[in-house]
Amino acid sequence: MMKQERDIVVIGAGLTGLATAFNLRKKGRDVLVLEKENRVGGQIRTFTEDGFTFESGPNTGVVSFPEVTELFQDLAGRCELETARESSKRRLIWKGRKFHALPSGLVSAVTTPLFTLKDKFRILGEPWRKKGTDPNESVGSLAQRRLGRSFFEYAVDPFVSGVYAGDPMKLTTRFALPKLYNLEANYGSFVRGAIAKRKEPKTDRDRLVTKKVFSAHGGLQKMVDALAQGADIVTGAQHIKVQPNEGGTWRVSYNDGQDEVVCRRVITAVGAYALPELLPFIPDTLMKPISNLYYAPVIQVSVGVRDTQGLDYPAFGGLVPSKEQQKLLGILFPSACFVERAPEGGALFSYFMGGVRHADYLKKSDGEIREMVIEAFHSMLKYPETMTPDMIRIFRHERAIPQYGEDSGKRFEAITCIEKQYPGLILAGNMRDGIGMGNRIHQAAMVANDL
Ligand SMILES: Cc1cc2nc3c(=O)[nH]c(=O)nc-3n(C[C@H](O)[C@H](O)[C@H](O)COP(=O)(O)OP(=O)(O)OC[C@H]3O[C@@H](n4cnc5c(N)ncnc54)[C@H](O)[C@@H]3O)c2cc1C
Repeated sequence: MMKQERDIVVIGAGLTGLATAFNLRKKGRDVLVLEKENRVGGQIRTFTEDGFTFESGPNTGVVSFPEVTELFQDLAGRCELETARESSKRRLIWKGRKFHALPSGLVSAVTTPLFTLKDKFRILGEPWRKKGTDPNESVGSLAQRRLGRSFFEYAVDPFVSGVYAGDPMKLTTRFALPKLYNLEANYGSFVRGAIAKRKEPKTDRDRLVTKKVFSAHGGLQKMVDALAQGADIVTGAQHIKVQPNEGGTWRVSYNDGQDEVVCRRVITAVGAYALPELLPFIPDTLMKPISNLYYAPVIQVSVGVRDTQGLDYPAFGGLVPSKEQQKLLGILFPSACFVERAPEGGALFSYFMGGVRHADYLKKSDGEIREMVIEAFHSMLKYPETMTPDMIRIFRHERAIPQYGEDSGKRFEAITCIEKQYPGLILAGNMRDGIGMGNRIHQAAMVANDL
C-alpha cells in the first residue's frame, strides 16, 4: 500500500491529461498523472514497421489555436512540429467513379462537377440570405439553407464524415462547429463573416494560428512522449476511484484501493463513459447527461505500398460523401503530407470506415475489412489489379469521436453544476471544448491557467 499527498492529480494520460500536467508543471505545480493503460498517449499512437511510420488513431491536427504553436515551442529539442507539405494541400471528394479536387480558385469553382450549376449561382447570394432562427439547428440543415443541397452533399457532409465520422443532420452547429455557427450569428453570413475576420487586425499571438495541418516529426507519439518526459506518471493504475475527503481535499485510490493519493485538486481527462466508475459519489441525475455522450466508432486501417509505380497522390486525402453510398468514409495520404512515412518510392494511406452511419462495421472480421481495403485500393485509388498493398494494419476504436448533438447543452450544464458543487474537481477531456487535437491542447492550457 502506498499513500502520498500531492497538490494536483490528473486522471488520464491522453493528449488532454498530458498537456494539462505539462502546463501545470511549467507553472511550478506539483502534479501526479494516473493512467489505467500501460502506455501514455490514449487515442494517439504511432507505429514504425518495415519502413512505414503510421498512426493507429489521429493522423493530423490543425494549428487552430495559438496554444498549439506555443506547445511545440515549449517542446523544442524533444519533438518537432511538422506541417504538411504545400503540395499536399488539395482535398479530394469522391463523386461518380473517381475523386475530384475541391475547388481552390474561381476557375475550378466554376468548372467543378461536384456542385450543380444552380447551386454555383445560388451561392453568390449567400451574403444576403436570411439568418436562421433555430439555435439548435443541425450542421446539415444550416448548410443546405445557406449553401444549397449540392454544397451540403459534396462539401459539408464529407467534411463532417472526415472530422466527426458523424451525421451532419444530428450534430448541432453551435456545439459541433461553433466557429461556423458564429459566422452566421455575428455577421449574418459565412462569406461576410469570413471576409470581416480576415480584415480584423491580428496580434503576433493571433498569427500563431496558422491553420496548417500538423503532425510531429516521426509521428504523433513523439508529441505525447515529449509531454510525458520528466512527468510523474503512474501507468497501469487500475480501478481508480475519486472520493471527497475531509478539509476540502480529495482521496484518489487505485489498484483496488491498495494505493492512495490525497490531493487538493483532481482533473479528469478521460472519456465521458469512464466517469461514472471514477466518480461514484456523483448522483445519477448529474452524471447521466454527461455519460450519455455517444462516441462514434471508427476503424482506421494503415495501408502501405512499397512501390507505387508512379501512381502517387499529391493531396491531403479523399473524402466520400454519404450520398455516394461507399463503404469508406475517406482515405488520408500521410506520406504525401509528411516525410519518412513510407519507404522511398512507396506510399502510406490511412483508410477510415464505420462512423455513426456504419457503426456495425466494427463487428466485421479482419478478413472482411481486408477485403474492403483491397477493393478500394483498386476502385478508388486506381491501383491496377496486379498490385496489392504490402502492409495492412487494422485498428478498431469502439469509442472514437464524441458527437456534439442537441443534448450537449444539458451536458455542459451538468459539468458546470458538478464543478460548482464539488470545488477542486475539474472535468476536462473531449466531452467539452471540442474534439480535435488542437481543441485538446487549447483546453489543457485553459484548465492550467484557471488553477
Ligand atoms: C480514429 C481516430 C481519428 C482521429 N482523427 C483526428 C484527426 O484527424 N484530427 C484531430 O485533431 N483529432 C483526431 N482524433 C481525435 C483525437 O485523437 C483526440 O482529440 C485526442 O487524442 C483525445 O485526447 P484525450 O486525452 O482527450 O482522450 P484520450 O486519448 O481518449 O485519453 C484518455 C486517457 O484516459 C485513460 N483512461 C480512460 N479511463 C480511465 C480510467 N478510468 N482511469 C484512468 N485512465 C483512464 C485512457 O486510457 C486514455 O489514455 C481522432 C481520434 C480517433 C480515435
